[in-house]
Amino acid sequence: MVIYAYELLPSKKMLIVPSSEIPHYIYSDTNSSGESMIRWTDFDGMAWECNIEDDGRPHTCGFNVFLGGGQGTDGLDLSSYKTINVDLDYSGHDQRLRFYLRNYEPGFSDINDIQTAKFNNVHVPVEYIHDRLVLSLSEFSVAEWWVTQYKAPRENSLPDFRHVVAFGIDTTYPGTSGMHSFKLNHLELVGEWVARDDWYLGILVFWVSVMMVGGAINLVRLTKEIRLEHQRLERLANQNSLLAQETDKYKKLSMIDPLTGVLNRQGLSEYIEQYFPADSKRQVSMVIIDIDHFKKINDALGHDGGDVVLKRVTELIKNNIRQSDQVVRWGGEEFLMILPDTSPEHSYHLAEEMRALIATTNFEQFPDLHITISLGVGTSNGEIPFHQLFRSVDLALYQAKAQGRNRTIRVNDFS
Ligand code: GH3
Ligand code: MG
Ligand code: MG
Repeated sequence: MVIYAYELLPSKKMLIVPSSEIPHYIYSDTNSSGESMIRWTDFDGMAWECNIEDDGRPHTCGFNVFLGGGQGTDGLDLSSYKTINVDLDYSGHDQRLRFYLRNYEPGFSDINDIQTAKFNNVHVPVEYIHDRLVLSLSEFSVAEWWVTQYKAPRENSLPDFRHVVAFGIDTTYPGTSGMHSFKLNHLELVGEWVARDDWYLGILVFWVSVMMVGGAINLVRLTKEIRLEHQRLERLANQNSLLAQETDKYKKLSMIDPLTGVLNRQGLSEYIEQYFPADSKRQVSMVIIDIDHFKKINDALGHDGGDVVLKRVTELIKNNIRQSDQVVRWGGEEFLMILPDTSPEHSYHLAEEMRALIATTNFEQFPDLHITISLGVGTSNGEIPFHQLFRSVDLALYQAKAQGRNRTIRVNDFS
């Protein structure tokens, strides 16, 4: 639509005549009596006549309006105009009339000598001259005599309308004798406000700008989205690591007995998996401890009292094992000691030490309380699976109970 709208644009117009202000004059050479052959018949109405004498000599007779201030100025830029509309009454015997536009050439013409201004002209047969003569600027060409006379370089020899200083009409050289009368009623320049090329270029520039602005907006939006997405991912990663920490925490908690703070059965499984995998050939001893008659202790001290005893016993065990050893609450009042790289003799010795320690322990809260423990001890050299070792040691413990409690039985002692 914008492309077609070009056709609807109003044209650009510049009215030169009629005008009372526009400077205009007439010129001619003289006849044999030394008188000028031209005269105004109506100066303000721009009517003049030439009486060319038939004396065999060439004569010239013409009319001129100054544009853009005329001589001494760099003229008027008419390059955006397409046509000159002329309403001229002419009567006379000339075959053709000459119309011209004088253009000052910066760097070439003398600004103060209008004769050096480029002479763009067109010869129009008189039958075309009526009230609506349309001269296209593209019809004008640079007069050969001007190029020759002013030795104009090629770059100044093409029609140019950027510095027009005068418009003129004259008789065709060398002049046809007789009376020639002229009356210029109307002179107007018609052009385009915007050249077609510029209009199309404008449309193109507009759309390219729209695309660029759109692209830039998209870029900014995407950058922002990417930043937000990054932040979101970072947050998620943080949450993930928090979750992992939480999971880790709960996993650890799930492996710890809340009453005594040592590993529970679940913790033991993890420990075994980590330190004594199925193919491990590592020597390991196991001690199962069971508090004797704990039910009675519970009955005497209450459940809370029983708990205090359980905690104290755990502490005693923990404080009297080596760093490499591990204590586990197997359940109720039953504990497991895992003694890696420990021989049967050494583990029996440790078990007996533990038994003696418990038997001689005084409980601060319960001064009259004396407890004992029974223990089962066994060792694997890596050949027996863990659960099998446990079964044997548990049987040893059972033996210890059966034999009257407060004693340590080794797997070898009964098998
Ligand atoms: P034995 O000498 O044969 O081992 O006799 P016992 O009474 O110690 O054995 P039993 O297995 O019959 O009883 C264990 C008691 O331990 C039963 C249970 O009420 C008590 N018990 C188990 N877990 C807890 C606990 O967390 N706290 C308290 N206070 N008592 C517990
Ligand atoms: Mg028990
Ligand atoms: Mg018991």
